[in-house]
This record gives sequence, C-alpha cells and structure tokens, in this order.
Amino acid sequence: MEVITKINEMRTKVFSVKDSKKSIGFVPTMGALHGGHISLIRSAKRENDVLVVSVYLNPAQFDNKDDLDEYPRQLNEDIELIRKEEADVVFAPGTEEMYPDGFCSYVTQDKLTDTLCGRVRPGHFKGVTTVITKLFNIVKPDRAYFGQKDYQQNAVIKRLVGDLNMDVNIQVCPTVREEDGLALSSRNKRLNPDERRSALCIYGALLKARAMFASNITDAKEIIEEMTAMIKNTEHTKIDYISIVNDYTLEDLSSINEKALVAVAVWVGNTRLIDNTILE
Ligand code: AMP
Repeated sequence: MEVITKINEMRTKVFSVKDSKKSIGFVPTMGALHGGHISLIRSAKRENDVLVVSVYLNPAQFDNKDDLDEYPRQLNEDIELIRKEEADVVFAPGTEEMYPDGFCSYVTQDKLTDTLCGRVRPGHFKGVTTVITKLFNIVKPDRAYFGQKDYQQNAVIKRLVGDLNMDVNIQVCPTVREEDGLALSSRNKRLNPDERRSALCIYGALLKARAMFASNITDAKEIIEEMTAMIKNTEHTKIDYISIVNDYTLEDLSSINEKALVAVAVWVGNTRLIDNTILE
C-alpha cells in the first residue's frame, strides 16, 4: 500500500491506473476511522480494481474552531487500519497542499445547503463541495463511497455531481451502529460515559418516529413533538434541529405521504451528533 501526501504524486498514480484500464474506488474520510468507514472501504474494495482512501481533516468545512481543534486525529493508526483492508493507496495531503497560499476558488450550492445542517452550520457545505470537487479532480474515481449517516451531505454531493457533469458514480452505504443503536461517529470518542449513555436518546427518538409512522401517524409536527420531548428529557442534550423533510428536495413536510427523511442534530455535552432515518 502506498501512502501519498502530494497531489502531483497522486495524479501520477491515477494516470498509471487509468492507463491500465482499471477502475478506481474512492472513500473520502476525515480520519479517526471506525466501523462505518471500514464498511465503505470494504464495499469499495469489492467493487473496484484499485482502492484509494483519503484521510484529510478539511478545515474549510468546520464552522466552529473548537470542533476542529477537538476533532480526533490518529493518522498512523488510520493508515494501519486501511492497510489491513488491503487498500492500494492512502491519500493524506496536508492543508498547505490542499489550500496553498493564494487559494481563492470555491464550489457552492444553493437550495439543498440552505436547510438542516446548512442552516445551523454556515459555510459548512461550501467546504464540503469544494473539498469533494478537489478530491474527485485529483483521484478521478469511477465510484465514490459515502455513508447514509450524512444524508444531506450525500444529497448535496449527488446533486453536485449531476449539476456539474462529474464523471463519478456515488454509492451510499447503510449507517453502521453500535450494538445499542448509536450511529458510529469519529466524534463519539469525545463523549464521556454519562454523555455516551445520553447520546442513545438520538436513536431512541428515531425509533419513536418509526413506531409512530408505523401506527399511521403521518403528522410531522406530532412526531417531532414526541421526539423533542424524548431528547429534552435526557441529561446533557441540546437539540440543534429535528426535521422531517422530503427525501429529495430536503424541504420541510407537514405530513408524510410516501417517503420522508427524519433528520436529527443534537449536542451531547460539547459534541454535536447527527443521525437520520427514512420513513416510507
Ligand atoms: P467522515 O470521516 O466523518 O467525514 O466520514 C467519512 C465517510 O464515512 C462519510 O461518507 C460518512 O457518511 C461515512 N460514515 C461516517 N459514519 C458512518 C457510519 N456510522 N456508518 C456508515 N458510514 C459512516
């Protein structure tokens, strides 16, 4: 497995893979790898000739300096985890490589980024669309793999790829959870044992929404009120948003007809966690 930190070296590698007519599977990550990342890596490995995993903690997508400062970093451990999955390349550029002095070009998107996390994290998706465009231009993947947990990010990236005619196929893999249901996240490492217990209320609230919908309750407000009460009754939590939206446009729904996304963002102590489920 090669560990590449320079964009030019990555390009040279990509050109030689393309010359040999092999397909490239790509998993972009911000590191502090867990089972969710590993499931994407395994899918990409299975479905492509060459597997590239990037580890890059992208400062441009952090709207909050403390969140960036406290984000877990463990590059050497990540490289060993990726090696075990028999990847071909780890691409781990530094920020001076990705955003050199004088950098001033960004990719932005309207509509899908105005809601949910976009509403409460200004600038976040501009950082995401910019870094993903850069990574796709550098790695030139045939397929790129993302997790269902970041539903809005996937919607934004799929639309970006469609709108700008990018030649990459976006694959979304299911959310991997702890045994008790908490979605795996690099940020879970920051929870103390009390907060870890409290964090479970997020999955509990999503299960509640599913149960209400299964018993024919389709009024979004009623479901959100019930979920809000559950989370508010749990120590150490502060709700950022609970929304029920159209799964494609991400616009708020007042009642659920066919299919809806229930998306939740909650602060647990100083850690912001997101999760979602689809009702259909
Ligand atoms: P991150 O390192 O947090 O930027 O995540 C990199 C990729 O891993 C994104 O596509 C995430 O959606 C995905 N991911 C994060 N957590 C999970 C999870 N629990 N299950 C599946 N995929 C995940």
